[in-house]
Amino acid sequence: MEKFVVSARKYRPSNFGLVIGQSHVTSTLKNAIASGQVAQAFLFCGPRGVGKTTCARILAKALNCQNLTPDYEPCNECDSCVSFNNNTSYNIIEIDAASNNSVDDIRNLVEQVRYPPQSGKKKVYIIDEVHMLSSAAFNAFLKTLEEPPSYVVFILATTEKHKILPTILSRCQIFDFKRIKVDEIAQQLRIIAQKENIQAEYEALRLIAQKADGGMRDALSMFDMIANFSPERKITYQATLENLHILDYDYYFQVTDALLKEDVATAWLIFNEILEKGFDGHLFVVGLCEHLRNLLVCQDEQTVKLLEVSQETTQKYLEQAKEASVAFLATALQIGNQADLFYKNSKQPKLHVELMLLKMAYIKKAILLAAELEKKK
Ligand SMILES: [Zn+2]
Repeated sequence: MEKFVVSARKYRPSNFGLVIGQSHVTSTLKNAIASGQVAQAFLFCGPRGVGKTTCARILAKALNCQNLTPDYEPCNECDSCVSFNNNTSYNIIEIDAASNNSVDDIRNLVEQVRYPPQSGKKKVYIIDEVHMLSSAAFNAFLKTLEEPPSYVVFILATTEKHKILPTILSRCQIFDFKRIKVDEIAQQLRIIAQKENIQAEYEALRLIAQKADGGMRDALSMFDMIANFSPERKITYQATLENLHILDYDYYFQVTDALLKEDVATAWLIFNEILEKGFDGHLFVVGLCEHLRNLLVCQDEQTVKLLEVSQETTQKYLEQAKEASVAFLATALQIGNQADLFYKNSKQPKLHVELMLLKMAYIKKAILLAAELEKKK
């Protein structure tokens, strides 16, 4: 049987062009390579799993490539590129500062930096989670970072830029990596599913992408998990909901329908069902607010594009939006927002949410009543 390789490794981009969602970084890096003006110290900031280490590795490979493509990408064919791709290159040194953060660790590193590469052009040191270095370790590192030998490039990576000392920040070229958009992740998953002969429903891939919160690595490991869980290696919407313990957004459509009909009983019963399935009440409040916001967005043709959902779901939103007035949605959102703010302090969270639903269900009446009163004046 073929050895199983996790998708995050198997589909790790081998050049800048294959990196998803970070073109502002990759194009700047390629321009630097093209002009021969590559900095000696970089700081890659951003959430986990969005491609910081991947870009660092590609940059290291490109700096050592013997035969760059006309587009300034590593060729992935020369001896150097091959050794990078096989993880056997001596010109890339990766240090995880989370576990190697003492002064001694950094002194070791500084000592190594003194030796030029035996082959190739640049030695690239990638220091991951650099904010974890002790302040003594930071200080031991500072001088080397200030005047590195010409054959050395440092790439520091962090998820917590605010923890990096200003003295380090001022010595680095800084790149801010972004969370990757839901559709960009979902489309990438679809490509991988096709290559792996996995039947995947696009809605399911979007769910995975949403849950991954902008991180490709997390998305890929969820993708693997769900595919392996299914005997036929299928990724369906239902299986994904169950595996990732995500609340089906259909519930929000149902609750909103009930609220629009002033049917408090149904709204409460649906909420009860959600709790019985083990979901958190606060999650429901936040989800319902998001849903109401989406309906509000649908009230205007110009803002429909702000919806971050699939075509099919957009249609569902547009239909429900027709039933709801802007006044209803705005008031419901305000009530929902209050419930969200005070959820943590409420001593009876279930009642707290039920009251929220009750208030929302009587919005229409309240609006009518206000209009009546206005007439009588
Ligand atoms: Zn090459």
